[in-house]
Parts: sequence; C-alpha cells; structure tokens
Amino acid sequence: MLRPLHVYVHFPWCLEKCPYCDFVSYKTERTQIDHEGYADALVRELDARAPAFEGHELASIFFGGGTPSLWEPKALGRVIGAIRAAFPRERTAAGGVEITSESNPTSLDEARAASLVEAGVNRLSVGVQSLDDDRLKYLGRLHDATLAVRAVKAAIATGARVSADLIFGLPGQHAAIAAEDAGRLVDLGLDHLSAYALTIEQGTRFGDLARRGKLPLAEDDAICDAFLAIERALENRGLEHYEVSNYARPGQASRHNLGYWRGAPYLGLGTAAYGFLRLAEGGLRYRNAIEPARYVAGTKTLARGVPREGDGVTSTAEPLDRETLLRERLMLGLRLAEGLDLDEAARDLDIPLADAWSRPRRRAMELLVQSGGLVVAGARLAIPSARRLSTDGIAARLF
Ligand code: SF4
Repeated sequence: MLRPLHVYVHFPWCLEKCPYCDFVSYKTERTQIDHEGYADALVRELDARAPAFEGHELASIFFGGGTPSLWEPKALGRVIGAIRAAFPRERTAAGGVEITSESNPTSLDEARAASLVEAGVNRLSVGVQSLDDDRLKYLGRLHDATLAVRAVKAAIATGARVSADLIFGLPGQHAAIAAEDAGRLVDLGLDHLSAYALTIEQGTRFGDLARRGKLPLAEDDAICDAFLAIERALENRGLEHYEVSNYARPGQASRHNLGYWRGAPYLGLGTAAYGFLRLAEGGLRYRNAIEPARYVAGTKTLARGVPREGDGVTSTAEPLDRETLLRERLMLGLRLAEGLDLDEAARDLDIPLADAWSRPRRRAMELLVQSGGLVVAGARLAIPSARRLSTDGIAARLF
C-alpha cells in the first residue's frame, strides 16, 4: 500500500525582512529573483530525491517562505507539474491533493491570484497579520489594512480555498480588537484562519530590541485574553478551533498541516527547507542549505539518494529513533483538538504498547488528568480547550 507523503517547497525571498521573522527569507526586489533558475533547481532536487519517496502517494504540496506570491506563477506551476509527475499516484480521498501557496498582500492582486490558481494552486494563504494600520507598522509590514482586505477578496474571487494569518498579543491591543479583526476577516468569506501570538525570537530585530528592553510588549494576561476572545469570535461564526493556532469551517482544515501534526512524513524541497522521512529503523530529519546560491549550485551535482550531509544540498541530516518519534507525535498531536491515539501511534512506529504506556508516562497522565490538563478516553489523549495555551508544557510532561 502506498503511504501518503506531503511536499513542502521553500521560496526564500521577500520584499522586506519583518523585524519579528526568523524564517529564512532574504530581502530582494522581484526583478532580482531568478524565477526560472530557482524552479530548475527545485526540479533537479526533486529528481535526485526520488528514492526518498518511493512507495508513497502525493498528499499535498505547500509553497511557503518567504513570499511565494513574488514568484512568477509560470515557474511555480512548472514545479507543481514536476512534483505531480514524479509520484506514481496522488491521494484521491478527502478532496484530493491540496496545493497551497502562501502570499502577501503586496504581491497578491486579482491577476496574480488568478494566475496562481491557473498554475495549479487550489488554496491561498494570505499574510494579513492585522487589520489595524498602527499594528501593521509596529510589525514592520509593507501593507496597510485596505491592501490586506483587497488581497483577501482577490484570493476569494478565484474560487480557491482561502486562509489568512493573523498575529495577536501586540502591545496596546485590546482583546476585543484582536477578536474583531479575526471576525472581520472571516466575514469576508474565509474558510480558515491561523491566529498566532507574537513570539519574540532570538536573532531577529525584535529579539535584539527586547533584549535591550527597547521593545514594547503585551502582558501575558492580555495575550491569553486575546486568545480566548478570538476563539469565541470564530466559534460563534461556525469555525472549529482544530489546532492551537488554527480555525476552520467544517472540512476546511489545512490537510498539509494536519499531516505535520499527525506525524506524517514530508519531503522538503528548496533553500532552507526542512524534511522528515520515515526509514525502516526510525526517521530522518534534514535541512537544506540556507543560502540560495549554495542550494542552487548544490542541486547541479546532487546524486540520487536520500538526503545526507555532504551531498552538496543537505546542511544537516539527523536520524531519529522510534522513542524520539513517539515524543514528537505527543508534542504535535496534542496541539490538535482531536489529540492523538497513543495505541495507533505506537503501532505505526512499531513500539511495544507496554513501552508507549510506560509506568512513568501513565503516572504523568494521571497527574495531568487530575489537574485538568489532559483528557484520556481509551487510548486517545487530548488537551481541553481551556489549557491549549500550555500545550508544549503539558506534552513535555509525557516524555
Ligand atoms: S513577509 Fe513573512 S517570511 Fe517574509 S520576512 Fe515577513 S514574516 Fe518573514
């Protein structure tokens, strides 16, 4: 039986570097990007990685970045075509292959949205972040609220599935305002919304300012209030809070991201892309070179095979044993409202049930259940909605 495989493609350029962003993205002008050359490199990498996805069917493709909407849709479409042609079969169940492209309002008008859909994209994700111009300035974004709304409407007009990203927990942002932004966006006709609390990452401009005490930040209580207010506003509109930061109308959850959270393997292609593959003895997490020139040059001499350090494209390749994979399943699966089935995870990873349900883990579960941090129903573990903001800490206690 063919196993599902998701494909992530990284596009590493943006018009500006946002001060909070720790993704690999380089500031550039659209005209400075070698659109076709980057597509050529991805196709070379895909060809060379074929042994890594033998025995798999294609489940989804996700273009992330960076700002993939800066990429010429023709070049992006060529990559979609190559990926689809490389797999012996595509998933036909549950709506078929989901093909998402991230985008920013500064590079998504009606013509661009239509070209992306023509190129094969069937789900557009728009980086709105806020509908308040002052907050957008604080976040260093190039767009204003008017442009954000225009981009969302352009995406919806294509008939593709549409999601938007929102950042909450901004200084001076009242919970009601954060919820109002979320509600206004959904009222435009979205079927999915991702709402993330602002996190300050080391190595970013915000990280530097925060370290020096020069960045205004929201209090933890205000962040928590905004999280709950957004949840109420979206659930009132019929969206399900299916993952800590994600809401969807029934049947509209991101199938690509569900794959990550359920522990499915994914092939990462492109500069700085992460990938996760299942191997007979466990798993392999790898990352590609983070400089575009190095990545593109490396694909020219890349030999066929599974990613390995020293192959010219892969910067790190880390083997993962089964117990590590089970801990990752717990960490990721507990982010979902559905939680995870520990028996199923153990069977999939070939771990004896007695080890998955080890005495220390069962004891930790009992304590968490007593404190209201966990619900256990048969073999299924889930975190109640009121404790979702503490997901990482709760999951870590089950390691
Ligand atoms: S647009 Fe997105 S990927 Fe690009 S710098 Fe800003 S947050 Fe990062």
